Amino acid sequence: MTTATESNSAAHNSPATKFPAIANPTAEKSSDIASNINYHAKYSPHFSPLKFEPEQAFYATAESIRDCLIQHWNETYLHFHKVDPKQTYYLSMEYLQGRALTNAIGNLDILDAYADALNKLGHELEEIAEQEKDAALGNGGLGRLASCFLDSMATLNLPAWGYGLRYKYGLFKQRITKEGQGEVAEDWLEKFSPWEVVRHDVVFPVRFFGHVLVSNTGSRKWVGGEVLQALAYNVPIPGYKTKNTNSLRLWEAKASADDFNLFQFNDGKYESAAELHSKAQQICAVLYPGDATEDGKILRLKQQFFLCSASLQVCCQTYMDIIARFKERREGKGPWKWSEFPSKVAVQLNDTHPTLAIPELMRLLLDDEGLGWDEAWDVTTRTIAYTNHTVLPEALEKWSQIVMRKLLPRHMEIIEEIDKRFMAMIHSSRTDMESRLSSMRILDSSNPQKPVVRMANLCVVSSHTVNGVAQLHSDILKSELFADYVSIWPAKFQNKTNGITPRRWLRFCSPELSNIITKWLKTDGWVTKLDLLTGLREFADNEDLHAEWASAKMANKRRLAQYVLQVTGVSIDPNSLFDIQVKRIHEYKRQLMNILGAVYRYKKLKEMSPEERKKATPRTIMFGGKAFATYTNAKRIVKLVNDVGAVVNNDPEISNYLKVVFVPNYNVSVAEVLIPGSELSQHISTAGMEASGTSNMKFSLNGCIIIGTLDGANVEIREEVGEENFFLFGATADEVPRLRKEREDGLFKPDPRFEEAKQFIRSGAFGSYDYNPLLESLEGNSGYGRGDYFLVGYDFPSYMDAQDRVDEAYKDQRRWLKMSILSTAGSGKFSSDRTIAQYAKEIWKIEECIVP
Ligand SMILES: *Cc1c(COP(=O)(O)O)cnc(C)c1O
Repeated sequence: MTTATESNSAAHNSPATKFPAIANPTAEKSSDIASNINYHAKYSPHFSPLKFEPEQAFYATAESIRDCLIQHWNETYLHFHKVDPKQTYYLSMEYLQGRALTNAIGNLDILDAYADALNKLGHELEEIAEQEKDAALGNGGLGRLASCFLDSMATLNLPAWGYGLRYKYGLFKQRITKEGQGEVAEDWLEKFSPWEVVRHDVVFPVRFFGHVLVSNTGSRKWVGGEVLQALAYNVPIPGYKTKNTNSLRLWEAKASADDFNLFQFNDGKYESAAELHSKAQQICAVLYPGDATEDGKILRLKQQFFLCSASLQVCCQTYMDIIARFKERREGKGPWKWSEFPSKVAVQLNDTHPTLAIPELMRLLLDDEGLGWDEAWDVTTRTIAYTNHTVLPEALEKWSQIVMRKLLPRHMEIIEEIDKRFMAMIHSSRTDMESRLSSMRILDSSNPQKPVVRMANLCVVSSHTVNGVAQLHSDILKSELFADYVSIWPAKFQNKTNGITPRRWLRFCSPELSNIITKWLKTDGWVTKLDLLTGLREFADNEDLHAEWASAKMANKRRLAQYVLQVTGVSIDPNSLFDIQVKRIHEYKRQLMNILGAVYRYKKLKEMSPEERKKATPRTIMFGGKAFATYTNAKRIVKLVNDVGAVVNNDPEISNYLKVVFVPNYNVSVAEVLIPGSELSQHISTAGMEASGTSNMKFSLNGCIIIGTLDGANVEIREEVGEENFFLFGATADEVPRLRKEREDGLFKPDPRFEEAKQFIRSGAFGSYDYNPLLESLEGNSGYGRGDYFLVGYDFPSYMDAQDRVDEAYKDQRRWLKMSILSTAGSGKFSSDRTIAQYAKEIWKIEECIVP
């Protein structure tokens, strides 16, 4: 067993000369790189040495890059070990890493040399890079945010690590058929990942079930039950143009050899002999296993606890190692105390999924380290911070107390004690809040059949800082969801507007546009100081820049059209307006409004004479995104988009004016093709429901204009790019409750365009599938998810008016190009470097630690 920051290869203290010269990991000349790649192709045992096809070339190239990363990794480890800075542990159930090769080569700043080297070997870097499977250990924005954050932490030279789970399959791979969406297991590890390094020496036990033993001194100990092992896999996270290379540590669940019952096995009882091994495999099988059954719920809770327990054990052990190492050095300062733990360790909870880190840290301090409650509570609350990502009621986690007590009996005791002490505090010092106590409590036993633990409440009570992810979202948290807590702890609540890494989301996914920006700004410093993009504003009317900008955009649009043809068979015209909505399919994101708009557009085009049609702005409307497998309405929306596309795209009268495309299996590498080729993107959620959004930032950075509501980070994007460069429509968050009420009271008068679009679908224009249940969600008058809770009907007319303004604006290409340049110019704020610098300073209190 060893610690979090342990070096990553056994070879870290052997001199580099021990490597065969031919595999020099820090080669910079393209001929040396080529022989390095050859060396790996020859000596890695995975493939026949006779073949050097793109797939083998990918693995050999990745391994050659990995040599270099491991060198940097070990230097980072040794340096941090020496300096011993405070470190952040970022806990997230999801990471959407995407591909790593281009990112690593780019961050190491050896793109050209590697491209040259591969050319010498008869390959193209781009083609090689496409061999890599996405590491898709996430669902959507929250997972991608975690990955952007890791990139920024490394780039800013911060001592900060990501912790997650190594799911064998990710969420799922989306297949589109006539039936709509189908899901198949996504086998990202089918061959193997060249990036992960398994650490057989980093193993921690994680217990489930069992019971609590009370000693005669009153101390408590959790014993019995199932004990599995958490085995660490490290993935290197290189910073941009820095030696600092951090880790993403992914835990895998294992059972030990002792748990294999050889006796039973030899007796022919194969399944029961390996029972614990199969339980271990379940934990890391998939992200978000179905939770309709009790077993499903237990499995999800096991996953969450597995991440928290293994990661927290690392924190505590690292700290004890520090204590051991620094004992002598601290002469005169007195011994280290656990009270100093928060000056060495910060833990960030990415949403409530890792909430169990709170009772687990308490348990480790109380039961294993022998601290008293007050001391353990003080350490825990100064260590942990929580990020809220949603105000949607169905996404606020509640766990059955019965399930929790069964799986984690000691943690349930601790949670009850936290709840009890919180109540006592209110009764003794905040009697003014007593009437609010029942909604603020951690335990909700109002339904005696189904008592629950409210995870968000546990997080708020136990964290030193709670943050929202965009200004509007943080304001809503303070004024609504967490308002009562604000009156108790006003200083606890902060905002950290999300960001995206400009490396992956501009520099590497659109080299054409990047080169133009660098040329006009006369520096590539914007890649790490994204605010420098404001320097483009002075050239927003410059015709030379316009010509270059348009040609880069066109190149990206052609690449996208090529991709769409390849994956859907639909041919789209790069001269049409590329209008994209890609994100998880959810009713609050209102893909339904977009497709209703497309249906209305199609109907109007059909009604026009050929002469009239010629005046229309040609559009290609693209959709992409996964619907959760059990979310019926979301899957109906996917089906509707595909059905509309099948009719529209095969209508010869219309094909020059409108295409509707569903791009299957949206993920990070699909996004890297779609976003650079986009011109208009839709971020049209019901105001108040999208906490931030991050793809709005990716699109804006790439010079794409947003049509959107005043929701999430849209508000701030509009402020930054200027209101004339944003197509705004729709109700505002503060109007939404009143509008829902009016709707319930039957006061809503639908726009004729809205009625016409729905009627056209009902008429069977897009096939005989029964869309009534979907369309009915837009009717009626009450209840969450019914009665048009998401206000599609209310916002539809202003949405269509905004779309008319888009068509007009696009006809004036000079105006459009100016808007595009100003979008990019105004996107500097949305770098995750800015976000992470704020977390580091205002929440984690950590500082950069640069590897020399
Ligand atoms: C950025 C990103 C998201 C988040 O999209 P939103 O529109 O902000 O919800 C989801 N999935 C992928 C693959 C992404 O890259």
